[in-house]
Amino acid sequence: MNKVILVLSDALRYDTAVNQMGYLGHLVETNQASLYKVTGELPSMSRPMYETVHTGLPSSAHGITSNYVVRLSNQPNIFQIARQAGKVTAAAAYNWFSELYNRAPYDRVEDREVDDPALTIQHGRFYSEDDFPDVELFAAAAMLVRRFSPDYLLVHPMGMDYVGEKFSSDSPQYRKQAILQDILLANLVPEWLGRGYTILVTGDHGIDADGAHGGTTPEVREVPLFAVKPGRPGEGDTGETISMLQIAPTVLHLLGLPIPGTMKQPWVTVS
Ligand SMILES: [Zn+2]
Repeated sequence: MNKVILVLSDALRYDTAVNQMGYLGHLVETNQASLYKVTGELPSMSRPMYETVHTGLPSSAHGITSNYVVRLSNQPNIFQIARQAGKVTAAAAYNWFSELYNRAPYDRVEDREVDDPALTIQHGRFYSEDDFPDVELFAAAAMLVRRFSPDYLLVHPMGMDYVGEKFSSDSPQYRKQAILQDILLANLVPEWLGRGYTILVTGDHGIDADGAHGGTTPEVREVPLFAVKPGRPGEGDTGETISMLQIAPTVLHLLGLPIPGTMKQPWVTVS
């Protein structure tokens, strides 16, 4: 099977995920999932970290050093390696992912909905407004699973980032958005496990009480990694801290694909 769904929740802080996401917490405390703390790379900005999560490289190495570097990735990455191996790739994600892996700059009409086996992200449903509702985003992801059975699916909701920047991370709105995403996952994870997917839930960076990110504090660096495998027990809260550079090789290992020499960090053995 070797199928993977990566839920990359934009601006999901580690502490907020642990405190507010009770369904995932249930899977952890009953040893159906494993929980790690991830130390994010720098700068704690979105587009650089999207590329870091998918290449296993720090920003100075992959060259996407700010949100304003608008070009295709030029490094080995999960989508490219999976597609070249004949796997089916898909994403329900912000349009910057289309720019990193399909085409730059993004064309809001031409690129927002694509189904083309020649593309690096073969089945894409992209949005370009930061307040795009998480409910709709998760529904698009669920549709992609049922319609195309992708081997690798990226699910990228923007709700935590939008609400966190508007109201601060220390706000009822931010905490309630984490609860909403947890409810959406509770409705989908059982189906996805039943279809044989390993599900990873993580973030690209955190966010602080100013509603900002980009710096080096734990609030903007630390994100969770929840791992749930079909038909296999987890390890609960492992107490381990891993590097964001380990996400890409971990996904490739789960997909049963070779890990390129550019990804120098070890994969995480999610049991
Ligand atoms: Zn972000």
